[in-house]
Amino acid sequence: MTILVCGGAGYIGSHTVKVLTSEYDVVILDNLTTGYPFLLNDKASFEKGDLGDPAVLDRIFKKHNIDAVFHFAANSLVGESVQNPLKYYKNNVSATITLLDKMVEYGVNKFIFSSTAATYGIPDTDLITEDTATNPINPYGKSKLMIEDILSDVSDVHNLEYVVLRYFNAAGAHESAEIGESHDPETHLIPIVLQHLLGERKQISVFGTDYDTPDGTCVRDYIHVTDLANAHILAYEGLVNKEVANEVFNLGNGAGYSVKEIIEVCEKVSGKSAVIEYADRRTGDPATLVASSKKIEEKLGWKPQFDLEEIIGSAWRWHSKETK
Ligand code: UDP
Repeated sequence: MTILVCGGAGYIGSHTVKVLTSEYDVVILDNLTTGYPFLLNDKASFEKGDLGDPAVLDRIFKKHNIDAVFHFAANSLVGESVQNPLKYYKNNVSATITLLDKMVEYGVNKFIFSSTAATYGIPDTDLITEDTATNPINPYGKSKLMIEDILSDVSDVHNLEYVVLRYFNAAGAHESAEIGESHDPETHLIPIVLQHLLGERKQISVFGTDYDTPDGTCVRDYIHVTDLANAHILAYEGLVNKEVANEVFNLGNGAGYSVKEIIEVCEKVSGKSAVIEYADRRTGDPATLVASSKKIEEKLGWKPQFDLEEIIGSAWRWHSKETK
């Protein structure tokens, strides 16, 4: 079995490749615009190129006998998507249509798609299920929902089976500390706090203290990247074993932590104190986003293995090693 991992050099993609290659052969397709040093071994090969380039996909589908595609390659910054919507519709929507077109042409019929909690917009519930209404409020969330809709239409008429995974807040690093979370620019809370505690940033900003949450700061559901990686493999095996087809699943821990709580756990794990600036709200941040992952637990037996302290502990080990 050979799996094409689009975006396999990025944060979640590289962790999934690491887990996948214990069992499967992998071809990584990445243009390396936001990816960073990733891991290759005798079960993983690498193709550099753009997903939206049909010639690149022709080359790959002719050269390798691909059984399934895991699609992580996307731009994922909410603020940037508001400033530059065409970039998001081009890279996240148009390029994915090219990929699906080529999958149909070459008869590759299994697809695992990385979607997001941003498809829910500002939900009217504190525990989001897959039945919660989707109403994305930025081009990033809209671009992901568009592909979800396209997948549903395509699978009605073509031999294509898919699973959509809506991630909540991915965090943490592989237990080997060989790979971890690093974006440029970094916008995510946990890496920013850990970089600060390692002396790489002067202070951290808490965006908004007047939300309708217990301590006034935003509440999010943080999920270990290895738990996400495992969910992809279960989803793929679920398609192969005909346990699921054309389904959408949330992926979260089901527990919400505020920005202040995250900073406290980072301080505890590192043994260092943070310098905190309380700042205005960041545009487009909903107060609370917490997932119910009951559906994937019931249908695929997925269960997150890592709690918040383990997530932050793994991230701390990786960041500490990187800054040595
Ligand atoms: N956040 C913050 N300071 C930062 C980065 C993030 O207060 O330097 C807050 C952000 O406003 C949000 C939460 O931390 O409420 C998680 O943000 P992140 O960007 O990590 O993930 P998101 O939930 O936006 O996908």
